[in-house]
Amino acid sequence: MNTEQIIAEMRKLIQILAKHSHAYYVMDNPTISDAEYDQLYHQLKHMEQQYPDLIQTDSPTQKVGGEALSKFSSVTHAVPMLSLGNIFNYDELKAFDQRIQERLPQQKIQYDIELKLDGLAISLWYEKGVLIRGVTRGDGETGEDITQNVKTIRNLPLSLRTANVTVPDFLEVRGEVLMPKSGFEKLNRVAEQNGEKTFANPRNAAAGSLRQLDPKIAASRPLAFYAYGVAQCVPHHGLASMHESLHWLTQLGFEIAERQWVVDSITEVQQCYEQIIKERHNLSVEIDGMVIKVDDLQQQKQLGFLSREPRWATAYKFPAQAALTTVENIEWQVGRTGTLTPVARLHPVFVGGVTVSNVTLHNIGEIHRLDVRIGDRVSVYRTGDVIPKVEKVWPEFRPEHAAIVQLPENCPVCDSPVVMPEGEALARCSGGLFCSAQRIEAIRHFVARKALDIEGLGDRWVESLLNLQLLRNVADIYQLHQHRETLLTIEKMGEKSVQNLLQAIEQSKDTQLHRFIYALGIRGVGETTAKMLANTFQTLDALMQADLEQLKKTPDVGDITAEWIYDFFHAQHNLEVIERLLQAGITWPAPQAPTRQPLNGESWVVTGTLASMGRDDATQKLQALGARVSGSVSSKTKCVVAGEKAGSKLEKAEKLGVSVMNEQEFLSMLEQYQ
Ligand code: NAD
Repeated sequence: MNTEQIIAEMRKLIQILAKHSHAYYVMDNPTISDAEYDQLYHQLKHMEQQYPDLIQTDSPTQKVGGEALSKFSSVTHAVPMLSLGNIFNYDELKAFDQRIQERLPQQKIQYDIELKLDGLAISLWYEKGVLIRGVTRGDGETGEDITQNVKTIRNLPLSLRTANVTVPDFLEVRGEVLMPKSGFEKLNRVAEQNGEKTFANPRNAAAGSLRQLDPKIAASRPLAFYAYGVAQCVPHHGLASMHESLHWLTQLGFEIAERQWVVDSITEVQQCYEQIIKERHNLSVEIDGMVIKVDDLQQQKQLGFLSREPRWATAYKFPAQAALTTVENIEWQVGRTGTLTPVARLHPVFVGGVTVSNVTLHNIGEIHRLDVRIGDRVSVYRTGDVIPKVEKVWPEFRPEHAAIVQLPENCPVCDSPVVMPEGEALARCSGGLFCSAQRIEAIRHFVARKALDIEGLGDRWVESLLNLQLLRNVADIYQLHQHRETLLTIEKMGEKSVQNLLQAIEQSKDTQLHRFIYALGIRGVGETTAKMLANTFQTLDALMQADLEQLKKTPDVGDITAEWIYDFFHAQHNLEVIERLLQAGITWPAPQAPTRQPLNGESWVVTGTLASMGRDDATQKLQALGARVSGSVSSKTKCVVAGEKAGSKLEKAEKLGVSVMNEQEFLSMLEQYQ
């Protein structure tokens, strides 16, 4: 990147951060998660560390976020209210400790650990023990006077307790205003019932409540104040450490957070951090990490401040549950049932405690909804054990030629056409038995008890056989006897198990038509539908020749399933597999003639309008006599039943010399066979 590009990139980040900062601090209505904000912020900071000469004066790294609203009178802080630096992992913790050790060589350092309360920082001024002013942090230099509102906070002392301590003439206490989880939930519940706007999180609820002009509103909200520091004390309290000063504040009547530790080493800091992560959900308030402070107040003074944060403290934030990364590619995966799923290949990113490099995008609809393209910057979310997902695309960072993703026309595995019936969300490979991505599932289904019932061909066998390339599709099962020697090399497969397996395979050849139909794994064809198909068509041949109309008329077969069945039997690769299965010797009993089936196996065609019955009725009657009723005339057609206005089919029959029956002759034939 040249200087111009670096500045442009910095300016873009500054602009985005400013927009979200405004939504967060001024509107109390964040538009992105804190983790996303933090990452963009760190990206900017990282660039600034690399190119310090190019730091922009309005960069958020150079100032404390927030600004004072003009609806309140503004107050200048005597001691600036700063922010905190933040760290996210043990390495950064070690680096923080290292920096302190370097500035305080040979000194024993203890750390005071506090909860990082996720609320709003305020400053409280007490004169002779009486609260005279409450001020927000604002931009760190100037805050808003919210005295009337803070006075409504129930656990905040309006005058200091004097029982055990001498109250100073002037005291400035810093702390956080929060809405405890229970109060927040109740507030949102009521707002929802009244059809009012709910708050995104307790932090915004607290900030929004505190910055109301009408103190009655603040009073009605369940706010609480927790003290975490003394900014000014006249005369000085004389205490030596952070933790003692917090204890002193409790004696004056302040509440402090429900956990606090003092430790001697960063290993212990890390232990506390891990403990807090486990306990955070049981706490009464929302926290977003912990704050580590050098405990000794003298040492704090020695360490001093950077422009927007103290050197003696940092926030150790919880692992981010959202992270920004780049989509390097979008690939289509074919599932075991033929479903095509788009998967985003990401530049690996650490989120929610794990490194994520692949995320499912579910379906083409989701790709359109997100408008995600190859090369896009995206936010990935992962909370707890939940599967990571892409939630947000950042068009601001989109490269010029980011590729739009289309649904492929052909299966990336077997090249069969991809189908996506109208109204369906999922696209599928039409490869069926042929597609190698679908074969484990196809094999598992084929050997199941309700299908060909090959006992012993469990998943472990199937996997080994696939690895040995002995199973490409279900028809290969019946060739396994030719590979007896190879089978014996499979781990834990002795002579006996091989023998049993081959025997089970042999036995399975003797089956029933409906089991065979079910075993083919045609989409939408379960056990019952398979039985209906077998009953209706009686022979596999008749089923395979059936046209869409005939299939749709089969009980239990809807229009969509009819199409799936039709497509299945018209895919060349499926026909090849079926052919091999039949050649291997799979058989089933010939259909039991219900009465007589004098037309068994003959191909008939019905055309034109019959006066005495519909064409469907005529078809059923012919089928009952064993005929296969086809939609088109060929030289194989036995006879054409021609009603009124028979057209091209009649002509073709005459041309081919196929016999033709008129309605009268047809009715006489039916009568004869009754
Ligand atoms: P910060 O919240 O990371 O840390 C400083 C603040 O921590 C202090 O001002 C104080 O209020 C608070 N704090 C809580 N417990 C404390 C304790 N025990 N001791 C001392 N301080 C304690 O920094 P910030 O400047 O207030 O805000 C920056 C953060 O705000 C960012 O890290 C980001 O997460 C969030 N932010 C989010 C968005 C957004 O759009 N989501 C926008 C801007 C800022």
